[in-house]
Amino acid sequence: MNPYVLIVEDEPGIAEMLRYNLEAAGLEAGLAVDGDEALVSIAERLPDLVLLDWMLPGTSGIEVCRQLRRKRETRNVPVIMLTARGEEADRVRGLDSGADDYVTKPFSPTELVARVRAVMRRARPATDAEHLSFSDVVMDLTTHRVQRAGRSLHLGPTEFRLLRHLMEHPGRVYSREQLLDAVWGRDVYVESRTVDVHIRRLRKALNEGGSPDIIRTVRSAGYALDESLADKLDSSS
Ligand code: CA
Repeated sequence: MNPYVLIVEDEPGIAEMLRYNLEAAGLEAGLAVDGDEALVSIAERLPDLVLLDWMLPGTSGIEVCRQLRRKRETRNVPVIMLTARGEEADRVRGLDSGADDYVTKPFSPTELVARVRAVMRRARPATDAEHLSFSDVVMDLTTHRVQRAGRSLHLGPTEFRLLRHLMEHPGRVYSREQLLDAVWGRDVYVESRTVDVHIRRLRKALNEGGSPDIIRTVRSAGYALDESLADKLDSSS
């Protein structure tokens, strides 16, 4: 699976040039034409890197970068800022907002692709292992594929993040508020019963075909992965 780069650029010529060069370098490229579209797109599918134009209509590149850094789910996504501004003060402001690197327009496509690769390489050790497993469930964090007992599961992006969070901390009980913070982000307003809706969807996907329920509902507290069940499944297999 090729790394996925989201290009956030309002100038179609530059966006297409970037897409062409990234794809030619064997990367998958997506496009958002403004900051708001970028934030929606990133919430739907987490990119391996964001190429972020500074001057965008509406929400600026700097603001997009700040918002990504504020949310737990997007905090570690590498960001390269693209800009026509080359002054030192702007460079500092860009990096202060949380960007990992900074490329000034006009740039050579070859150099840009090299910077993309370098930033992704640096980011990789900080990211988690490529697979998570619990009982008979395996999550591939690179391809976003999830399997249970060898059967592929179809999870929406929210269910994927929810399962990932639970699988990163098996056995630990999370309240609905803690799950909201971790999965949706602290500054997103979502009602806590939304968590129940997504847990229900996640359970339905996990339990299809009659597999035992690995999610434990802890009365008046929240949810956890059922560790006792994992032990039982492990010893019976
Ligand atoms: Ca622009």
